[in-house]
Amino acid sequence: MNQIRTIKGTHDVLPDNSKDWQRLEKIIHKNASLFGYNEIRTPIIEEAGLFNRGIGENTDIVSKEMYSWVDRDNTTIALRPEMTASVVRSFIQHSLGNQSSLQRLYYMGPSFRRERPQKGRQRQFHQFGVEAIGSNNPEQDAEVIALGWQILSEAGISNLELKLSSIGSEDCRNKYRNELVNFLKPYKSKLSKVSQQRLINNPLRILDTKNKDEIDIIKSSPIIEDFYTKEDRSHFKQVQDYLNAIEIPFSLDPLLVRGLDYYTQTTFEIISNDIGAQDALLGGGRYDGLIKSLGGKDTPAVGFAAGMERILLAISTNKDNEKTRPIIYIVCVEKDALGSVQKIAKGLRSLGYNVLLETMRRSMKAQMREANRCDANFAVIVGEQENNEKTVQVKNLNDGNQETIDQKNLFNHFKSLTI
Ligand code: AMP
Repeated sequence: MNQIRTIKGTHDVLPDNSKDWQRLEKIIHKNASLFGYNEIRTPIIEEAGLFNRGIGENTDIVSKEMYSWVDRDNTTIALRPEMTASVVRSFIQHSLGNQSSLQRLYYMGPSFRRERPQKGRQRQFHQFGVEAIGSNNPEQDAEVIALGWQILSEAGISNLELKLSSIGSEDCRNKYRNELVNFLKPYKSKLSKVSQQRLINNPLRILDTKNKDEIDIIKSSPIIEDFYTKEDRSHFKQVQDYLNAIEIPFSLDPLLVRGLDYYTQTTFEIISNDIGAQDALLGGGRYDGLIKSLGGKDTPAVGFAAGMERILLAISTNKDNEKTRPIIYIVCVEKDALGSVQKIAKGLRSLGYNVLLETMRRSMKAQMREANRCDANFAVIVGEQENNEKTVQVKNLNDGNQETIDQKNLFNHFKSLTI
Protein backbone atom coordinates (compact mmCIF):
# COMPACT_ATOMS: atom_id res chain seq x y z
CA MET A 1 0.00 0.00 0.00
CA ASN A 2 1.15 3.54 -0.72
CA GLN A 3 2.51 5.31 2.30
CA ILE A 4 0.67 8.54 3.05
CA ARG A 5 2.98 11.50 3.58
CA THR A 6 2.59 15.17 4.49
CA ILE A 7 1.20 17.47 1.81
CA LYS A 8 3.77 19.54 -0.11
CA GLY A 9 4.79 22.64 1.84
CA THR A 10 3.60 21.31 5.20
CA HIS A 11 5.73 19.86 7.96
CA ASP A 12 5.46 17.78 11.10
CA VAL A 13 7.06 19.19 14.21
CA LEU A 14 8.82 16.14 15.60
CA PRO A 15 9.67 15.57 19.27
CA ASP A 16 13.27 16.68 18.67
CA ASN A 17 12.04 20.12 17.59
CA SER A 18 8.92 20.66 19.63
CA LYS A 19 10.93 21.93 22.60
CA ASP A 20 12.24 24.78 20.42
CA TRP A 21 8.66 25.67 19.49
CA GLN A 22 7.54 25.61 23.10
CA ARG A 23 10.45 27.79 24.12
CA LEU A 24 9.59 30.37 21.46
CA GLU A 25 5.91 30.25 22.40
CA LYS A 26 6.83 30.88 26.02
CA ILE A 27 8.94 33.91 25.09
CA ILE A 28 6.05 35.29 23.05
CA HIS A 29 3.46 34.80 25.83
CA LYS A 30 5.79 36.26 28.43
CA ASN A 31 6.73 39.40 26.55
CA ALA A 32 3.23 40.06 25.22
CA SER A 33 2.06 39.95 28.80
CA LEU A 34 4.90 42.23 29.97
CA PHE A 35 3.69 44.80 27.42
CA GLY A 36 0.03 44.41 28.49
CA TYR A 37 -1.21 42.47 25.44
CA ASN A 38 -3.96 39.83 25.75
CA GLU A 39 -4.21 36.74 23.60
CA ILE A 40 -6.99 36.36 21.04
CA ARG A 41 -7.73 33.07 19.24
CA THR A 42 -9.82 33.07 16.10
CA PRO A 43 -10.93 30.19 13.83
CA ILE A 44 -8.65 28.89 11.12
CA ILE A 45 -11.51 29.02 8.60
CA GLU A 46 -13.38 32.20 7.78
CA GLU A 47 -15.64 33.43 5.01
CA ALA A 48 -13.36 34.10 2.06
CA GLY A 49 -14.93 37.55 1.66
CA LEU A 50 -13.18 38.65 4.85
CA PHE A 51 -9.81 38.28 3.18
CA ASN A 52 -10.97 39.60 -0.18
CA ARG A 53 -11.99 42.81 1.56
CA GLY A 54 -9.43 42.88 4.35
CA ILE A 55 -6.31 42.07 2.34
CA GLY A 56 -7.40 43.05 -1.14
CA GLU A 57 -8.53 41.00 -4.11
CA ASN A 58 -5.56 42.11 -6.17
CA THR A 59 -2.90 40.99 -3.77
CA ASP A 60 -1.01 37.77 -4.51
CA ILE A 61 -2.08 36.40 -1.16
CA VAL A 62 -5.74 36.49 -2.09
CA SER A 63 -5.69 36.12 -5.87
CA LYS A 64 -3.11 33.36 -6.14
CA GLU A 65 -2.30 31.84 -2.79
CA MET A 66 -5.47 31.53 -0.77
CA TYR A 67 -6.98 28.11 -0.18
CA SER A 68 -10.72 28.50 -0.60
CA TRP A 69 -13.69 26.38 -1.56
CA VAL A 70 -17.44 26.58 -1.90
CA ASP A 71 -18.94 24.81 1.08
CA ARG A 72 -22.11 22.72 1.04
CA ASP A 73 -24.27 25.72 1.92
CA ASN A 74 -22.72 27.68 -0.97
CA THR A 75 -20.67 30.04 1.21
CA THR A 76 -17.09 30.40 0.09
CA ILE A 77 -14.77 29.48 2.89
CA ALA A 78 -11.03 30.06 3.14
CA LEU A 79 -8.17 28.86 5.26
CA ARG A 80 -6.80 32.05 6.76
CA PRO A 81 -3.72 33.30 4.90
CA GLU A 82 -2.89 35.68 7.78
CA MET A 83 -4.57 36.69 10.98
CA THR A 84 -5.00 40.47 11.06
CA ALA A 85 -8.27 40.37 9.11
CA SER A 86 -9.61 37.69 11.48
CA VAL A 87 -8.62 39.67 14.57
CA VAL A 88 -10.31 42.77 13.18
CA ARG A 89 -13.41 40.74 12.28
CA SER A 90 -13.53 39.50 15.86
CA PHE A 91 -12.89 43.00 17.26
CA ILE A 92 -15.89 44.30 15.31
CA GLN A 93 -18.14 41.29 15.91
CA HIS A 94 -17.69 41.38 19.69
CA SER A 95 -17.62 45.19 19.97
CA LEU A 96 -14.26 45.00 21.74
CA GLY A 97 -13.84 48.71 21.12
CA ASN A 98 -16.72 49.37 23.56
CA GLN A 99 -14.97 47.47 26.35
CA SER A 100 -11.87 49.56 26.16
CA SER A 101 -10.84 52.39 23.87
CA LEU A 102 -7.48 50.70 23.35
CA GLN A 103 -7.26 46.95 22.77
CA ARG A 104 -3.81 45.42 22.90
CA LEU A 105 -4.13 41.94 21.36
CA TYR A 106 -1.74 39.20 20.32
CA TYR A 107 -2.18 35.89 18.55
CA MET A 108 -0.34 32.77 17.49
CA GLY A 109 -1.24 29.94 15.13
CA PRO A 110 -1.08 28.44 11.65
CA SER A 111 -1.76 30.34 8.41
CA PHE A 112 -1.97 28.93 4.89
CA ARG A 113 -0.75 30.17 1.54
CA ARG A 114 -0.36 28.16 -1.62
CA GLU A 115 3.15 29.41 -2.37
CA ARG A 116 6.05 27.66 -4.01
CA PRO A 117 7.72 25.96 -1.05
CA GLN A 118 11.36 26.67 -0.32
CA LYS A 119 13.54 27.16 2.73
CA GLY A 120 11.60 29.45 5.07
CA ARG A 121 8.48 29.34 2.89
CA GLN A 122 5.76 26.77 3.54
CA ARG A 123 2.14 26.34 2.60
CA GLN A 124 1.19 25.86 6.22
CA PHE A 125 3.29 28.13 8.40
CA HIS A 126 2.86 29.64 11.82
CA GLN A 127 2.61 33.27 12.72
CA PHE A 128 2.43 35.24 15.87
CA GLY A 129 1.54 38.86 15.86
CA VAL A 130 0.10 41.77 17.75
CA GLU A 131 -2.57 44.33 16.97
CA ALA A 132 -2.97 47.51 19.02
CA ILE A 133 -6.38 48.86 18.10
CA GLY A 134 -7.49 52.33 19.17
CA SER A 135 -4.52 54.70 19.20
CA ASN A 136 -3.38 56.73 16.22
CA ASN A 137 -0.31 58.09 17.97
CA PRO A 138 3.29 57.35 17.01
CA GLU A 139 4.18 56.06 20.49
CA GLN A 140 1.84 53.16 19.78
CA ASP A 141 3.83 52.31 16.63
CA ALA A 142 7.05 52.42 18.64
CA GLU A 143 5.58 50.17 21.34
CA VAL A 144 4.52 47.53 18.81
CA ILE A 145 7.94 47.57 17.17
CA ALA A 146 9.63 47.37 20.58
CA LEU A 147 7.61 44.29 21.49
CA GLY A 148 8.54 42.53 18.24
CA TRP A 149 12.18 43.48 18.67
CA GLN A 150 12.21 42.27 22.27
CA ILE A 151 10.74 38.86 21.38
CA LEU A 152 13.19 38.27 18.53
CA SER A 153 16.14 39.39 20.66
CA GLU A 154 15.15 37.21 23.59
CA ALA A 155 14.66 34.26 21.24
CA GLY A 156 18.39 34.59 20.57
CA ILE A 157 18.61 36.11 17.09
CA SER A 158 21.60 38.40 17.15
CA ASN A 159 21.75 39.53 13.55
CA LEU A 160 18.56 41.62 13.57
CA GLU A 161 17.91 44.56 11.35
CA LEU A 162 14.88 46.85 11.58
CA LYS A 163 13.85 48.55 8.35
CA LEU A 164 11.47 51.43 8.69
CA SER A 165 9.38 53.41 6.26
CA SER A 166 6.20 55.40 6.01
CA ILE A 167 3.71 55.26 3.21
CA GLY A 168 1.90 58.32 4.58
CA SER A 169 -1.82 58.92 4.76
CA GLU A 170 -4.27 57.58 2.22
CA ASP A 171 -4.21 60.93 0.47
CA CYS A 172 -0.43 60.92 0.14
CA ARG A 173 -0.45 57.34 -1.02
CA ASN A 174 -3.02 57.98 -3.73
CA LYS A 175 -1.07 60.95 -5.10
CA TYR A 176 2.13 58.97 -5.00
CA ARG A 177 0.52 55.99 -6.70
CA ASN A 178 -0.59 58.20 -9.60
CA GLU A 179 2.87 59.73 -9.96
CA LEU A 180 4.50 56.32 -9.85
CA VAL A 181 2.19 54.98 -12.54
CA ASN A 182 2.91 58.03 -14.73
CA PHE A 183 6.62 57.48 -14.23
CA LEU A 184 6.52 53.75 -14.97
CA LYS A 185 4.17 53.82 -17.98
CA PRO A 186 6.88 54.70 -20.53
CA TYR A 187 8.89 51.70 -19.27
CA LYS A 188 5.95 49.33 -19.48
CA SER A 189 7.40 47.13 -22.22
CA LYS A 190 10.58 46.67 -20.14
CA LEU A 191 8.66 45.47 -17.10
CA SER A 192 8.03 41.81 -16.34
CA LYS A 193 4.57 40.37 -16.96
CA VAL A 194 3.89 40.41 -13.22
CA SER A 195 4.88 44.06 -12.89
CA GLN A 196 2.83 45.03 -15.93
CA GLN A 197 -0.17 43.54 -14.18
CA ARG A 198 0.76 45.31 -10.97
CA LEU A 199 0.96 48.60 -12.79
CA ILE A 200 -2.80 48.29 -13.11
CA ASN A 201 -3.68 46.50 -9.86
CA ASN A 202 -1.15 47.30 -7.21
CA PRO A 203 1.60 49.60 -8.55
CA LEU A 204 3.32 50.15 -5.19
CA ARG A 205 4.21 46.47 -5.14
CA ILE A 206 6.51 47.00 -8.13
CA LEU A 207 8.89 48.76 -5.73
CA ASP A 208 9.30 45.37 -4.03
CA THR A 209 10.73 43.78 -7.18
CA LYS A 210 13.76 41.50 -7.14
CA ASN A 211 14.21 41.88 -10.92
CA LYS A 212 17.52 43.64 -11.69
CA ASP A 213 16.31 45.67 -14.68
CA GLU A 214 13.31 46.87 -12.75
CA ILE A 215 15.47 47.82 -9.78
CA ASP A 216 17.47 50.03 -12.16
CA ILE A 217 14.34 51.72 -13.45
CA ILE A 218 13.02 52.29 -9.94
CA LYS A 219 16.24 54.01 -8.88
CA SER A 220 15.05 57.19 -10.54
CA SER A 221 11.35 56.84 -9.71
CA PRO A 222 9.55 59.45 -7.58
CA ILE A 223 9.93 58.86 -3.85
CA ILE A 224 7.06 58.79 -1.43
CA GLU A 225 8.70 61.20 0.98
CA ASP A 226 8.01 64.05 -1.42
CA PHE A 227 4.28 63.41 -1.06
CA TYR A 228 4.04 63.35 2.75
CA THR A 229 1.67 65.83 4.35
CA LYS A 230 2.85 67.81 7.37
CA GLU A 231 1.13 65.31 9.67
CA ASP A 232 2.67 62.33 7.85
CA ARG A 233 6.11 63.84 8.28
CA SER A 234 5.58 64.61 11.95
CA HIS A 235 4.19 61.14 12.73
CA PHE A 236 7.13 59.43 11.06
CA LYS A 237 9.65 61.68 12.80
CA GLN A 238 8.16 60.93 16.22
CA VAL A 239 8.24 57.16 15.63
CA GLN A 240 11.95 57.52 14.87
CA ASP A 241 12.53 59.68 17.95
CA TYR A 242 10.85 57.13 20.22
CA LEU A 243 12.82 54.24 18.72
CA ASN A 244 16.00 56.22 19.32
CA ALA A 245 14.90 56.80 22.91
CA ILE A 246 14.63 53.05 23.54
CA GLU A 247 17.82 52.39 21.60
CA ILE A 248 16.37 50.22 18.86
CA PRO A 249 18.57 50.74 15.79
CA PHE A 250 16.85 51.05 12.42
CA SER A 251 17.53 52.00 8.84
CA LEU A 252 15.15 53.90 6.59
CA ASP A 253 14.04 52.02 3.51
CA PRO A 254 11.78 54.08 1.24
CA LEU A 255 11.16 51.05 -0.96
CA LEU A 256 9.65 49.06 1.88
CA VAL A 257 6.12 48.61 0.65
CA ARG A 258 4.07 46.03 2.39
CA GLY A 259 2.11 43.81 0.03
CA LEU A 260 -1.20 44.47 1.72
CA ASP A 261 -3.65 47.19 0.76
CA TYR A 262 -4.69 48.53 4.11
CA TYR A 263 -1.47 50.03 5.42
CA THR A 264 -1.11 53.73 6.21
CA GLN A 265 1.81 55.67 7.73
CA THR A 266 4.48 53.55 9.42
CA THR A 267 5.59 50.28 7.84
CA PHE A 268 8.41 48.14 9.12
CA GLU A 269 10.15 44.85 8.69
CA ILE A 270 12.67 43.02 10.83
CA ILE A 271 15.06 40.82 8.90
CA SER A 272 17.89 38.49 9.80
CA ASN A 273 20.96 38.12 7.65
CA ASP A 274 21.33 34.54 8.83
CA ILE A 275 18.56 32.71 7.00
CA GLY A 276 19.00 33.14 3.26
CA ALA A 277 16.65 34.58 0.66
CA GLN A 278 13.47 34.53 2.76
CA ASP A 279 14.98 36.91 5.29
CA ALA A 280 11.86 38.70 6.56
CA LEU A 281 11.12 37.53 10.07
CA LEU A 282 8.49 40.06 10.97
CA GLY A 283 6.52 42.65 9.06
CA GLY A 284 3.92 45.16 10.05
CA GLY A 285 2.67 48.67 10.12
CA ARG A 286 -0.22 50.98 10.73
CA TYR A 287 -3.53 50.15 9.10
CA ASP A 288 -5.89 52.93 10.06
CA GLY A 289 -8.26 52.16 7.20
CA LEU A 290 -8.93 48.48 7.78
CA ILE A 291 -11.49 48.44 10.57
CA LYS A 292 -13.81 50.84 8.79
CA SER A 293 -13.41 48.98 5.51
CA LEU A 294 -14.53 45.78 7.26
CA GLY A 295 -17.68 47.44 8.57
CA GLY A 296 -16.49 48.70 11.97
CA LYS A 297 -16.18 52.20 13.36
CA ASP A 298 -13.30 54.25 12.02
CA THR A 299 -10.56 53.07 14.41
CA PRO A 300 -6.81 53.42 14.03
CA ALA A 301 -4.60 50.39 14.53
CA VAL A 302 -1.04 49.18 14.24
CA GLY A 303 0.41 45.68 14.37
CA PHE A 304 2.81 43.12 13.00
CA ALA A 305 2.96 39.46 12.03
CA ALA A 306 6.03 37.28 12.34
CA GLY A 307 6.84 33.88 10.88
CA MET A 308 7.67 31.34 13.56
CA GLU A 309 9.41 28.81 11.28
CA ARG A 310 11.74 31.54 10.05
CA ILE A 311 12.51 32.63 13.60
CA LEU A 312 13.35 29.05 14.52
CA LEU A 313 15.56 28.78 11.44
CA ALA A 314 17.42 31.90 12.55
CA ILE A 315 18.02 30.58 16.05
CA SER A 316 18.85 26.98 15.22
CA THR A 317 22.46 27.98 14.83
CA ASN A 318 22.93 29.80 18.12
CA LYS A 319 20.60 28.16 20.58
CA ASP A 320 21.35 28.83 24.21
CA ASN A 321 21.17 26.04 26.73
CA GLU A 322 18.07 26.64 28.74
CA LYS A 323 18.02 25.18 32.21
CA THR A 324 15.62 22.27 32.20
CA ARG A 325 14.14 20.51 35.16
CA PRO A 326 16.02 17.45 36.43
CA ILE A 327 14.74 14.11 35.23
CA ILE A 328 14.15 11.10 37.45
CA TYR A 329 13.75 7.68 35.86
CA ILE A 330 11.92 5.17 38.02
CA VAL A 331 13.35 1.73 37.40
CA CYS A 332 11.00 -0.95 38.65
CA VAL A 333 11.75 -4.64 38.30
CA GLU A 334 9.27 -5.86 40.89
CA LYS A 335 5.76 -6.47 39.59
CA ASP A 336 4.24 -6.08 43.08
CA ALA A 337 5.71 -2.58 43.33
CA LEU A 338 4.12 -1.24 40.11
CA GLY A 339 1.34 0.43 42.12
CA SER A 340 3.54 2.03 44.75
CA VAL A 341 5.96 3.43 42.16
CA GLN A 342 3.01 5.22 40.52
CA LYS A 343 2.50 6.99 43.83
CA ILE A 344 6.20 7.80 44.11
CA ALA A 345 6.13 9.27 40.59
CA LYS A 346 3.12 11.44 41.45
CA GLY A 347 4.82 12.78 44.58
CA LEU A 348 8.11 13.54 42.81
CA ARG A 349 6.30 15.33 39.97
CA SER A 350 4.55 17.54 42.49
CA LEU A 351 8.01 18.57 43.71
CA GLY A 352 8.80 19.81 40.21
CA TYR A 353 10.86 16.91 38.85
CA ASN A 354 10.26 15.44 35.41
CA VAL A 355 9.54 11.79 36.17
CA LEU A 356 9.65 8.94 33.68
CA LEU A 357 8.16 5.68 34.82
CA GLU A 358 9.05 2.38 33.19
CA THR A 359 5.96 0.90 31.52
CA MET A 360 7.61 -1.73 29.33
CA ARG A 361 8.56 -4.12 32.17
CA ARG A 362 12.06 -4.48 30.73
CA SER A 363 15.07 -5.97 32.46
CA MET A 364 17.00 -3.93 35.01
CA LYS A 365 19.83 -3.47 32.52
CA ALA A 366 17.51 -2.31 29.75
CA GLN A 367 15.74 0.13 32.07
CA MET A 368 19.06 1.65 33.21
CA ARG A 369 20.10 1.99 29.57
CA GLU A 370 16.81 3.76 28.87
CA ALA A 371 17.37 6.11 31.83
CA ASN A 372 20.71 7.12 30.33
CA ARG A 373 19.21 7.52 26.87
CA CYS A 374 16.65 9.95 28.31
CA ASP A 375 19.44 11.99 29.94
CA ALA A 376 17.94 11.29 33.36
CA ASN A 377 19.79 12.82 36.31
CA PHE A 378 18.64 10.20 38.80
CA ALA A 379 17.40 6.63 38.74
CA VAL A 380 15.08 5.59 41.54
CA ILE A 381 15.34 1.81 41.60
CA VAL A 382 12.81 -0.57 43.12
CA GLY A 383 13.51 -4.32 43.11
CA GLU A 384 12.18 -7.17 45.21
CA GLN A 385 14.37 -6.38 48.22
CA GLU A 386 13.57 -2.66 48.15
CA ASN A 387 9.87 -3.43 47.84
CA ASN A 388 10.03 -5.76 50.88
CA GLU A 389 12.03 -3.29 52.94
CA LYS A 390 10.03 -0.24 51.79
CA THR A 391 13.19 1.42 50.52
CA VAL A 392 14.49 2.55 47.12
CA GLN A 393 17.95 2.88 45.62
CA VAL A 394 18.64 6.40 44.43
CA LYS A 395 21.41 6.49 41.86
CA ASN A 396 22.87 9.82 40.79
CA LEU A 397 23.51 9.19 37.10
CA ASN A 398 25.87 12.13 36.80
CA ASP A 399 28.44 10.94 39.37
CA GLY A 400 27.41 7.28 39.80
CA ASN A 401 26.80 7.55 43.58
CA GLN A 402 24.09 5.31 44.90
CA GLU A 403 22.35 5.24 48.28
CA THR A 404 19.51 3.37 49.96
CA ILE A 405 16.67 5.58 51.12
CA ASP A 406 13.51 4.74 53.03
CA GLN A 407 10.45 5.32 50.87
CA LYS A 408 8.95 7.49 53.59
CA ASN A 409 12.00 9.80 53.43
CA LEU A 410 12.22 9.90 49.64
CA PHE A 411 10.29 13.13 49.08
CA ASN A 412 12.25 14.98 51.76
CA HIS A 413 15.45 13.68 50.16
CA PHE A 414 14.53 15.16 46.76
CA LYS A 415 13.04 18.28 48.33
CA SER A 416 16.40 19.05 49.92
CA LEU A 417 18.23 18.92 46.57
CA THR A 418 18.34 22.30 44.90
CA ILE A 419 16.52 22.12 41.59
P1 AMP B 1 3.02 38.83 5.83
O1 AMP B 1 1.68 38.49 6.42
O2 AMP B 1 3.17 38.44 4.40
O3 AMP B 1 3.44 40.22 6.15
O4 AMP B 1 4.06 37.88 6.60
C1 AMP B 1 4.48 38.10 7.91
C2 AMP B 1 5.57 37.13 8.23
O5 AMP B 1 5.07 35.80 8.13
C3 AMP B 1 6.75 37.17 7.27
O6 AMP B 1 7.68 38.12 7.69
C4 AMP B 1 7.30 35.77 7.38
O7 AMP B 1 8.17 35.66 8.48
C5 AMP B 1 6.07 34.94 7.63
N1 AMP B 1 5.60 34.27 6.40
C6 AMP B 1 4.79 34.76 5.43
N2 AMP B 1 4.55 33.84 4.49
C7 AMP B 1 5.21 32.73 4.86
C8 AMP B 1 5.35 31.41 4.30
N3 AMP B 1 4.74 31.04 3.17
N4 AMP B 1 6.12 30.52 4.96
C9 AMP B 1 6.74 30.86 6.11
N5 AMP B 1 6.64 32.07 6.68
C10 AMP B 1 5.89 33.00 6.08
